[in-house]
Amino acid sequence: MNGLADVVGVEHVITDPGLREGYQTDWTGRFSGECEAVVRPADTAEVAGVLAWARENGRAVHVQGGNTGLVGGSVPSADGRPVVILSTVRLRNPAKVVGHSAIVGAGVTLGEVQRLAADHGLVYGVDLAARDSATIGGTVATNAGGIRVCHYGMTRSQVEGIEAVLVDGTVIRRMGGLAKDNTGFDLAGLLTGSEGTLGVITAVRVKLHDPADESVVAVFGVDTLAEALEHAHAQGPGLQAAEVVDRAAWLAAGGPDLGDHTWALLLESSMETAELPDEALVATEGPDRARLWHFRESQAEVAGQAGVKQKVDVSLPLDKLDEFTTGVWAAHPCSIFGHVADGSLHVELFDLGEDDVLDRVVELGGAVSAEHGVGRVKTRAVVNDRGEATIAAMRALKGAWDPDGVLNPGVVFDAEH
Ligand SMILES: Cc1cc2nc3c(=O)[nH]c(=O)nc-3n(C[C@H](O)[C@H](O)[C@H](O)COP(=O)(O)OP(=O)(O)OC[C@H]3O[C@@H](n4cnc5c(N)ncnc54)[C@H](O)[C@@H]3O)c2cc1C
Repeated sequence: MNGLADVVGVEHVITDPGLREGYQTDWTGRFSGECEAVVRPADTAEVAGVLAWARENGRAVHVQGGNTGLVGGSVPSADGRPVVILSTVRLRNPAKVVGHSAIVGAGVTLGEVQRLAADHGLVYGVDLAARDSATIGGTVATNAGGIRVCHYGMTRSQVEGIEAVLVDGTVIRRMGGLAKDNTGFDLAGLLTGSEGTLGVITAVRVKLHDPADESVVAVFGVDTLAEALEHAHAQGPGLQAAEVVDRAAWLAAGGPDLGDHTWALLLESSMETAELPDEALVATEGPDRARLWHFRESQAEVAGQAGVKQKVDVSLPLDKLDEFTTGVWAAHPCSIFGHVADGSLHVELFDLGEDDVLDRVVELGGAVSAEHGVGRVKTRAVVNDRGEATIAAMRALKGAWDPDGVLNPGVVFDAEH
């Protein structure tokens, strides 16, 4: 470990077992993996130095941001090689707003980017419940979705530039933020959603937006997801979020009883144009809005406390959502919630039915990962979903950029490959 200490400073090479523990187990507590050390580089040159040390010393490197990922991708899986975790949390420079863009180090949290944008009267379009721990680098590496996708799009639509270090030490940097730039391959687009398998993202440039119209938050019951979508679509361009939670899960989170309906539907919509039924509970002020949102945003924790065994994040064609949920409920004890306007659902399974649920998704023409990524959980399902030819093309890219498989072994691709 001496060589590593020369790169990042001895205090940023963590070998103490007690101190390593928090990095070795993921947020769900379901995935863990031993590392020799946690290394915390402070800048791009130190990241390149850590990767050079790993190459020369036969180590695998596991990249970790805020460790809030939900598919096991943030912690090492054993492939026989000793592993170091490269934590990005000290990559905090720069952190500035230029025009309608934020240029930030990969370790800045999503919440900090949102606040930085707000300080300039602007909005960052990605939001999710883990905002105060998830890093901007992690959200780009996973192409995170979240609760504003129906208004702003996924993280990929926000990325205007990336700086990343490849395994061989090459630094790729394109941060100018040109509105039009068709010069060569879109490497920023490729690194977005690559889950740490192709390079270490050290900084990003993301798009900021003018604030949306002042909004109301409304909650009411619906019986089908088709009905939920009708209400969401009735909001027109004023729609800012459309979330569903099944009745039992809503009540388990302490949500108010909405009558004998299958789903609670939460809509956030422009105050001027909102189209809401008479029975809707409506909140316009901060604490009331936060209270209604809490019943949706606490769902992952509530399912955790109820003993969830597997967590599945999937997306379906909008006209297949009801068929999917009806079939899954008939076959598995679970709770279901998600971002209905995007066709994106989270299934919290209280049995080990994940493979069956993912097979159903593929049969219905959906995607086995809507927004959390493939990680370690879906390395089988991704082949089923995309097919061998696409996986071979992805492997060829991985082989070209990381021929010895140093970065994140076992993530996206089976460790044995
Ligand atoms: C309560 C809760 C709610 C959530 N809600 C949502 C949601 O609504 N939508 C959603 O999409 N996700 C959601 N997530 C999942 C998670 O927050 C996102 O996947 C987030 O993008 C992960 O960021 P992170 O910094 O924690 O990354 P980590 O968990 O540390 O890492 C995730 C993956 O990215 C890689 N990675 C991290 N940083 C870098 C980097 N700088 N360069 C290269 N690779 C890197 C890791 O190797 C790993 O494969 C939620 C999580 C929790 C706990």
